[in-house]
Amino acid sequence: MTLRVGLIGHPVAHSISPRFQQAGFDAAGLDARYDAWDLQPAELEGFIGDLRQSDALGANITIPYKEAALRHMDGLHQTARFVGAINTIVNNDGHLQGYNTDVTGFQRSLSEADFDPSGKHAVLWGAGGAARAVAWALIWRGVNALTIINRTAVRGGRLRHDLASASAGAKLKSLGADEEGVPAALGSADLVVQCTSIGLRGSETEGQLPFDLSSLRPEAFVADLIANPIETPLVEAALKSGRRAIGGLPMLVYQGVAAFELWTEREAPVEVMLAEASAAMSETDS
Ligand code: NDP
Repeated sequence: MTLRVGLIGHPVAHSISPRFQQAGFDAAGLDARYDAWDLQPAELEGFIGDLRQSDALGANITIPYKEAALRHMDGLHQTARFVGAINTIVNNDGHLQGYNTDVTGFQRSLSEADFDPSGKHAVLWGAGGAARAVAWALIWRGVNALTIINRTAVRGGRLRHDLASASAGAKLKSLGADEEGVPAALGSADLVVQCTSIGLRGSETEGQLPFDLSSLRPEAFVADLIANPIETPLVEAALKSGRRAIGGLPMLVYQGVAAFELWTEREAPVEVMLAEASAAMSETDS
C-alpha cells in the first residue's frame, strides 16, 4: 500500500515541500507519495478527517490554515499549544496529533549555523505566525531579551503579551516599526530575525530591505525567514557588510525533516532533502 501524505494550504503550487519530501521518502526506500493539496476553507475539516484512514501518514499545513487546522486535532504537542498553530499532523492509528515543527526547524537552522541564542538579545522584525513560532523557539533556547518590532504595533504588543505567560524570565519588549526606539533596539541586538514577507520573490516588496542595516553591530547575526530567493536582499546586504547571515531555506527543510521523522519514526535523509530543496529553489531562480 502506498502511504499518502502532503501539504495542505492555499495556494500550494509554488511550494518546494513536495520535491524535497518525496526525495526523502524515495531515498529512505519508503512507499509513500507526498502531494500538494490546495484546499478551499470549506474543504478543510472533511479533508483532515480523512487523514485518520490507515493509508495516511498525516500532512504538513501552510498558509492560511496553520491556526484553523489546529481546531480539528485530537491532541496537540505542547509546542503547538504554546504557538497556537500547527504545521504538521501525524496520524497515529486514527488519532490526529498536531505539531509545530517550525519551532524546531528554526532552532536547528541556527545551531547548524553555529549561533547559540542563549543569554543573547534577539530582535524579531515582524509579528505574524512565523514570528510567533520563532519567538517561542528563542525563549526555549534561553534568550535573555526579546524585542518585537512590527509595522502594526498592536500586533507586536499582542505577541509580547502572549509570550509573557511563560517567557522564563526573558525581558520582553515591543515597538512599532516607526517608533523612536527602533535604531537603539537594532543596535543592541545579537540576533535579528526577519519574520515579515518583505523581500519575498513575486511580492510587491521583492528586492526591498525591511530595515536599515547600518544600525546593527558588526557582530550581529542576521536570519531572514524568507526562503525564496535563497539569498534575500537582507541576507545579501548583511553578508556584504561582513556580518553572518542565513536565509529561510534551512528552516524550511529542517521543519520538513522533523515532520518526516514524526511520520516515519525514522531518521530523515537530511542531506538528500537539503540538496533537493536547493535544486528546486535554484530552478525557480532561473
Ligand atoms: P503573516 O501574514 O502571519 O505575517 C506577516 C508579517 O509581515 C506581519 O508582521 C506583517 O506586518 C509583516 N508585513 C507584511 N507586509 C509588510 C510590509 N509591506 N511592510 C511591513 N511589514 C509587512 O505571515 P507569516 O508570519 O506566516 O510569514 C512571514 C514570512 O515568513 C513569509 O515571507 C514566509 O514566507 C516566511 N516563512 C518562512 C518559513 C520557513 O520555513 N523558512 C516558515 C514560515 C514562514 P503587519 O502585522 O503590520 O501586517
